[in-house]
Amino acid sequence: MKTCKVAVVGAGLAGLCAARALNAAGIDLIVVEARDRLGGRILSADEAGLPAEDGFDLGPSWYWPQMQPAMASLVGELGLPAFAQTSEGDVVFERMSREKPQRYRPVAMEQQSMRLAGGTAALVQALGRELASERIRLGSRVTAMALNDAGVRLTLTSGDGSVDVLQADHVIAALPPRLLDATVSFTPEQDRATAGRWRQTPTWMAPHAKFFALYDRPFWRLDGLSGTAQSMVGPLVEIHDATTASRKAALFGFLGVGAGQRATLGDAALKQACLGQLARLFGPAALAPRATLLKDWAADPLTSTAADQTGGDHPLPRDDHWVAGAWDQRLHLAGSETSPSEPGYLAGAVIAAGRAVADILSSMDRT
Ligand SMILES: Cc1cc2nc3c(=O)[nH]c(=O)nc-3n(C[C@H](O)[C@H](O)[C@H](O)COP(=O)(O)OP(=O)(O)OC[C@H]3O[C@@H](n4cnc5c(N)ncnc54)[C@H](O)[C@@H]3O)c2cc1C
Repeated sequence: MKTCKVAVVGAGLAGLCAARALNAAGIDLIVVEARDRLGGRILSADEAGLPAEDGFDLGPSWYWPQMQPAMASLVGELGLPAFAQTSEGDVVFERMSREKPQRYRPVAMEQQSMRLAGGTAALVQALGRELASERIRLGSRVTAMALNDAGVRLTLTSGDGSVDVLQADHVIAALPPRLLDATVSFTPEQDRATAGRWRQTPTWMAPHAKFFALYDRPFWRLDGLSGTAQSMVGPLVEIHDATTASRKAALFGFLGVGAGQRATLGDAALKQACLGQLARLFGPAALAPRATLLKDWAADPLTSTAADQTGGDHPLPRDDHWVAGAWDQRLHLAGSETSPSEPGYLAGAVIAAGRAVADILSSMDRT
């Protein structure tokens, strides 16, 4: 049976930051990730929708360094080039289907939204490079955890159904608490209040979907448009310029159509409706993209649960205990949603990971 001091469950930003800090402290760790890639909700993809070194952000795109010093520090430490979200040019507003969309001068952003060159996955690649490959186990889903005298026994299930076991002194569960509650069994069970708290914590952006239209050139800029649009007609409700630092032109939008309706309509009908809307807002050139991408996070079982198919509230910052009873001191939650500040955001993942590692190091000091 494989053993380690700390098992980190999930290789999203929180899991990778936790692994980085543990590594720096010389702690023996293993990261267990259910997907066959690193990054979790961070996914920068090429024209075919595959993870890429220079991709379009199908998950998070922005961070706000002035409000989020933890993210600003991480980007700085990793030496990643960042650039400001394009906002030069007019904004388009579509109020009603029987009215022509209107153009407006944009209001200056209070906090500049920043993007990373190469896509947000540049963070993941940089953090992944710092970890020795034997410390990461991809394609292994933690399906059960049991307390024993030595700590925690984790059951890992691979895609082919084979089962393995990992024994750890401590576990950092770096995934959304709601997903943890829905998909991992605990022996002994979590007490009712703890399980309830996990279940009631919404996973940020899990109900949402992003649509991208990729073009040969950012044609909207020639017309003095910024690529930003708001619509009360849909199917896209908020649209932005998604052109990469390497100048690959694109527009992206968040779908305002709910997860159930998206599943009923299907990708082809959604794509057609989105392109029709982009043509209304930005002109007929929008009808001829070189490629389109649609990522529906509500349909991704490693992000969303049944409870995430509707709603989409923002998790509230909570500084209280996420684990109680017999599991306290052995299990530490670090998904972004558990952060005492900026929960749900990239910054929240960095902060929550730092807190989980600090808790473990101080409990090691005590023993
Ligand atoms: C469409 C979209 C847009 C967003 N936009 C922004 C933005 O612009 N700015 C911003 O700050 N934030 C944004 N966010 C939120 C941001 O993506 C998250 O805050 C952040 O990525 C969360 O990181 P995490 O590591 O906590 O969780 P995740 O990224 O969800 O990582 C959890 C990991 O655990 C793995 N996992 C799950 N279950 C198991 C299991 N049983 N065993 C092993 N592994 C498991 C998953 O595969 C995943 O890799 C957006 C999110 C989405 C979906």
